[in-house]
Amino acid sequence: MSYEKVHSLLKELKLEGISRVLDSSLQNWSKGDKDVLELIEELLIAQKKENENKKYITALRYSGLPFHKTLEEFDFSFQPSIDRKQVMELKTLRFMYEKENVVFLGPPGVGKTHLAVGLGMEALREGKKIYFVNAITLVDRLKKAFVERHLEKTIRFYKSLDLLIIDELGYLPLDTEGAKLFFELVSQKYEQGSIILTSNRSFTEWDKIFEDEVLATAVLDRLLHHCTIVNIRGKSYRLKEKQKTGLVGIQTTIGRTDKLRKSER
Ligand code: ADP
Ligand code: MG
Repeated sequence: MSYEKVHSLLKELKLEGISRVLDSSLQNWSKGDKDVLELIEELLIAQKKENENKKYITALRYSGLPFHKTLEEFDFSFQPSIDRKQVMELKTLRFMYEKENVVFLGPPGVGKTHLAVGLGMEALREGKKIYFVNAITLVDRLKKAFVERHLEKTIRFYKSLDLLIIDELGYLPLDTEGAKLFFELVSQKYEQGSIILTSNRSFTEWDKIFEDEVLATAVLDRLLHHCTIVNIRGKSYRLKEKQKTGLVGIQTTIGRTDKLRKSER
C-alpha cells in the first residue's frame, strides 16, 4: 500500500494521532530491531493519547470553568494561611473518589476560585465529569426547572457529575424557595458525588445566606459530614496585582476609582 494511501485512510478514519507519529515511528522502526507488533503498539498508544487529549479539550469547553488556571500557577508563598500540604492532598483527588466535599472560605481575592478551578482541571485530566457554576446561577436554574416541571431531570444532571463546583455562595442571600432547592441539590449529591464550594461567609453566617437557621443547619450538616475545609485569611491577590502595575483599588471618586494612578493621589 502506498504511503499516500495510508495517510489518506488515516485522515478518513480520523486517526490523527497515528498520522502525526507515523513517519518518525516508521523511520525509527526500520533502523531498530523492534518487531512489527511493537510498532503497532506505539502507533495505537499515540492514537489513545490523541483521543484522551481531544476528550479533555471538549470537557474543558463544557465544564463552565471561568478560567483555566492550574494549582501549579498558585503562589502559596503569597498566602501563608493556606496549608500547601493540605492542597497537595486535595490534588490527589482522593476526596473525589471518596465522594467527599471541599469548602474554600475567605474574603474576596484570596484565591478561592483559583484553587477550585485548579482542582477541577486535575479532575478533568483524569477524565472525570465536572461542572463549575456560580451559586446564584445554579439556584436560578433550579428555580426555572421547578417552574418548568423538569427539576428532577436538572438535578439528575448535577447528580451525575463526579465533581460539582459551586462558586461564591453568600454574595447574595437566597430566598426561601431558592434555599430549599439548594438544600435539595446538596442532599441529593450527599455521598453520591463531590461538591467544591467557595464562600466569603463563615459558617456562623450561613443562616443569613439561607435566611433560615434550620435550612442552613441542614445544608451544613450534609455538606460538612465528609469535608475538607480550607479557611483562607489573607490579603487579596487582585489588590497586589493592581499595586504592582501602579493602580490602586480604593473606591474614592466614582468613575475614577480603579483607574486612579498612584501619582494622581
Ligand atoms: P477569590 O475567588 O477568593 O475572590 P480568585 O481565585 O478569583 O479569588 O483570585 C483572584 C485572582 O488572583 C485570580 O486571577 C487568581 O488566579 C489570582 N490569584 C489569587 N491568589 C493567587 C495566588 N496565591 N497565586 C497566584 N494567583 C492568585
Ligand atoms: Mg471567587
